[in-house]
Amino acid sequence: MLIAGNWKMYKGQAETAEFCIELKRSLADVEAVDVAVCPPFPSLAVGVQILAGTDIAVAAQNVHWEEEGAFTGEVSAPMLRELGVYGAIVGHSERRQLFGETDEGVGRRTRAALDAGLSVIACVGETEEERERRETEDVLRRQLSVLEAEDNLVIAYEPVWAIGTGKTATPEIAEEAHEFIKGLLDVPVLYGGSVKPENAEELLSLPAVDGALVGGASLDVESFASICLSASRS
Ligand code: PEP
Repeated sequence: MLIAGNWKMYKGQAETAEFCIELKRSLADVEAVDVAVCPPFPSLAVGVQILAGTDIAVAAQNVHWEEEGAFTGEVSAPMLRELGVYGAIVGHSERRQLFGETDEGVGRRTRAALDAGLSVIACVGETEEERERRETEDVLRRQLSVLEAEDNLVIAYEPVWAIGTGKTATPEIAEEAHEFIKGLLDVPVLYGGSVKPENAEELLSLPAVDGALVGGASLDVESFASICLSASRS
């Protein structure tokens, strides 16, 4: 079971330090769950430093496929490795929708990160319109076609209509999508989309759910720790 917190563009170094010190304290006795926080790039180093020696990992929110070069605004896998970062999110729907990332790019980013020794949380999921048009399976099949099952790869199923909206997939929808994904790619599958302390237990108890990628509720240390606790009981 993995619980990863995607902080998006929140928390600079000072807030990251405060959060990590508190999280370390809150999770000191929590077992049987892997936990990762994903701060923005400038806050990664302080996270790595404070969480060193704990079981809490620090991951980035994206990674480029080249090792270095003229790619303004991008960060490479070896740079993340050098920082002591354990992995990266790839293909988040905000990257796809707001920054034009493509399936092909997601495939290249994932490949490069895995080759460099990083773990990857690759995000997939349909929009509301795609679900209404009954295209969910086609979309998932297309998004997954650029990926191959590997030890350090985890998929996050994040229906776009459930991200930051307060709308959570029903247990039936989540379970069905997770089973479909696992049928295509034999890797752990996290659920993402408005996971919070109140619904974590139910979602995490589903047989095909191997953890959660948490956005909004991961910004508050108490609510994130509470979700981690639910996972350790599942
Ligand atoms: C996310 O951004 O990955 C996410 C799941 O966000 P939220 O939990 O806020 O819906």
